[in-house]
This record gives sequence, C-alpha cells and structure tokens, in this order.
Amino acid sequence: MPQNTVENTPVTMLGLGAMGTALARTWLAAGHPLTVWNRTPARAASLAIEGAKVADSAAEAVAANTLIVLCLLDDTSVDEVLADTDLVDRDLVNLTTGNPAQARARAEWARARGARYLDGGIMAVPPMIGAPDTGGYVFYSGSRDLFERHQATLNVPAGATYVGADAGFAALHDVALLSAMYGMFAGAAHAFALIRKEDIDPAALAPLLADWLAAMAPAVHQTAAQLASGDYTEGVVSNLAMQVAGTPTFLSTAEQQGVSPELLSPYFELMRRRLAEGKGEESLTGVIDLLVH
Ligand code: NDP
Repeated sequence: MPQNTVENTPVTMLGLGAMGTALARTWLAAGHPLTVWNRTPARAASLAIEGAKVADSAAEAVAANTLIVLCLLDDTSVDEVLADTDLVDRDLVNLTTGNPAQARARAEWARARGARYLDGGIMAVPPMIGAPDTGGYVFYSGSRDLFERHQATLNVPAGATYVGADAGFAALHDVALLSAMYGMFAGAAHAFALIRKEDIDPAALAPLLADWLAAMAPAVHQTAAQLASGDYTEGVVSNLAMQVAGTPTFLSTAEQQGVSPELLSPYFELMRRRLAEGKGEESLTGVIDLLVH
C-alpha cells in the first residue's frame, strides 16, 4: 500500500471563498495533487493556473479523491453541495464554521452515507493560512483514526490540533476561544471610550492596553486549576469582596467620561450576585457557576 505522505496525498477542496482558496493554495504549493470545485466557477481560475484540476460538479470532485475538504459558508451550504455526491468510503473534513450540534449531526449524517468524518474549527484568518509564524491553527474533532491518517496533510495550511472524538468539540473550542476574544474586545472598546473625549492619543493607549491584557491573560490558568480543585479561594490575591468594592469607581468614572457602562455592568452584576452568596474570599471563578444552568 502506498504511504500517504505530505507530498502525495491528493486533496479535493469544495468551496473557494477567501478561506477555501487560501487553504487550497497551500496544498498546491506543498505538492499535493488538488481537485477543486466552487459553485461560482470563476473563483477556481487562479488555482487552475497554479495547477489545480477543476471539477465540473461537486460529485465529480468528490469522486476524484478520498480526502475531501469542505470550506463553505455555513451548514446549509454543506447540505446543498453534498446533496448529489457519493460519499461511500470518503474521508470528509469539514472546515465550515458551525455549532457543536451541527457538527455532531453532520458526523452522523456522514456515517450514514458511508463516510468517515472530521470536523474543524479554523483559528485563523486567510493571511495566516500557510504562514506558520502567525500563530494560526485548526481544531479538529471526530474520528481519531482519520485525524492521524491525514495529520501531515492537515498540518500543511495551519497547525492541526485534535481535541476529541466528539465531533462537536472542534466547534465548541472554536466558539469558546472566540467568545473570550469578544470579551476582550468589549473591554478594549470600553477603555477607548473612556479616553475618547480627552487629549489622550488612542495610539498611546493601545500598547499599554495590549501589554496589560497580555499580562492578565495567564490568570486563566488559575481559573482552570480552581475549577479542577473546586476550591475558588486557592491562591487568591485580589478577592471578590475587594473587587466588588472597586466597581463603583469604574461606574462613576464611566459616568464622568460620558460613557455607557453597558459592556461592563453585566459582569459586575454577576460579581455582586456571587458576593451576595457569601463568597467574598473567592476569586472571580465563582461567576462561571452562575452562568451555567
Ligand atoms: P466566503 O464568503 O469568502 O466564501 C463562501 C464560500 O461558500 C464560497 O465558496 C461560496 O461559493 C460558498 N457557498 C456559499 N453558499 C453556498 C451554497 N449555497 N452552495 C454552494 N456554495 C456556497 O467565506 P470564507 O471562505 O471566508 O469562509 C468559509 C468558511 O470558513 C466559513 O464557514 C467561515 O466561517 C470559515 N472561516 C472563515 C474565516 C475568515 O476569516 N474568512 C476565519 C475562520 C473561519 P460562491 O463562490 O459560489 O459564492
């Protein structure tokens, strides 16, 4: 049996949007035979010049190779694209963004059609694809065998990180990280709003903010350790009681600066609720328990 190596595993790529094209290009550049298909054929033109084979239909593209990578807009477009394809004995790798339930349902759907299935969550924007130093990577979940068989190929566009046999876990990790990112963006938006009307250059605040956020980020390790032990007072430096006592300063400063507190208030409210439960000696970890129903 020929070995599947990074050099020779042929790939079929369905979906040549900004992300699909970036992914496809890295496999071509690494010497993988590549077959592509896109609903709007014109988007395949540049890849054809670079050496990709362009299929006339999704069914033809799926028939061409065992390893099929999808990068489409959403779960509905995956349904539409794969509707008339024969997936028996195919290795389906779906990099289309979706939620965990969609990924689990898609894994079942693929199994019922005779395919093996991996779901992926891309932690990168197109310029980070094929650029290992930029820190982009892709979460994978689903069949471990499939992941191991194609790991070298999947590593070509961006680092491949396997997070479990549950097909929904890649999407869950993806959304968890992006949710934390939005929290960070929300905090930064509030910070910029506070100085907006002052003679303070946002460009001077930006590096201070970036450094502060980076300095605070490792606190997530203590959170994880406390969640594991169940003791939310372990190693606490700034306890909840002290932090809640400080919240009026944040709210009055926002008022003085003419800034809405709407991004901060929900978090402060959770902190106050936890304090009201008599948990003043804890860190902020107890807020997590208030969020989980
Ligand atoms: P684009 O909008 O650039 O491309 C969307 C792709 O989906 C195109 O190939 C489009 O085909 C195809 N498509 C949409 N609807 C259908 C349909 N009904 N039937 C067939 N094909 C369809 O999006 P991206 O390439 O940027 O994103 C693709 C996936 O990657 C998304 O799930 C996105 O969330 C994810 N992703 C994107 C990131 C980014 O920064 N761009 C970052 C991380 C994940 P056509 O050309 O014919 O319109």
